Order: sequence, then C-alpha cells, then structure tokens
Amino acid sequence: MNCPECGSELVLRNGRNGKFYGCGNFPQCRHTESANTTVSTSKPARDSALRAFNQFVASKGWTQSQGSKWIQQTLGLNWDEAKIETFDEKRCETLVAYIKLEGVSGGQSDIALAFERAKQRRKK
Ligand SMILES: [Zn+2]
Repeated sequence: MNCPECGSELVLRNGRNGKFYGCGNFPQCRHTESANTTVSTSKPARDSALRAFNQFVASKGWTQSQGSKWIQQTLGLNWDEAKIETFDEKRCETLVAYIKLEGVSGGQSDIALAFERAKQRRKK
C-alpha cells in the first residue's frame, strides 16, 4: 500500500487511538489512513473507484480538494470520511455510480437513455 500523496510505502503504526497507517516519508509527508478498514477485501473496488475519480477530476479540470468537496456534497460525508482510501466496497460502488451519472458531458445521462430505451421497447 502506498501513500496517495507522495507514493512512499505506508507503515503500520501504533497511535493513541489504535493502529493506523502513516506515510513512510514522515515527517516530510503527514498522510495517515485508518487501519480498521477492510483493506484486502475491497481493494479492487477501491482501486477502480480511485481510477474513476481521478479521471473524473481531470476531465472537470478540478484539483483533488475540489474533487473531495464534490464527494462530500454528493455522498453527504464530512472531510475525513470523503477519502476513497477509507471507503468500503459499497461506498466505492456508490461513488462510481455517481461519477458515471455526473461524467456525461451534455445530453442525456446513461440512466435517462436507458429509461428512454425501455419505454420504446414497451411500445413495440
Ligand atoms: Zn506520503
């Protein structure tokens, strides 16, 4: 597992509030992640959510913190919760679904198109 901010290896540390992952590049980088998430099981979901999110942010021309703000507003999370690295599988899927909805530039969204298609099928 690597630090999303500087790419260094994350190290499991013991803190006052239990175990957490700290950046191996500490104190130059102060990135931390909570260690109580199910890291192994939801990693593929988290990877694809991260990838989708990075593409989404890039396509909008946003900074990471603008993207994070969007996550907070869209999923109703606070600043600490709006980190994909700490998301469980379900939240990753929800995020990807919202990105797909939001990511359609102009015209109808996938859901609206699917709805139209279903309506036409019913007419036949
Ligand atoms: Zn780091």
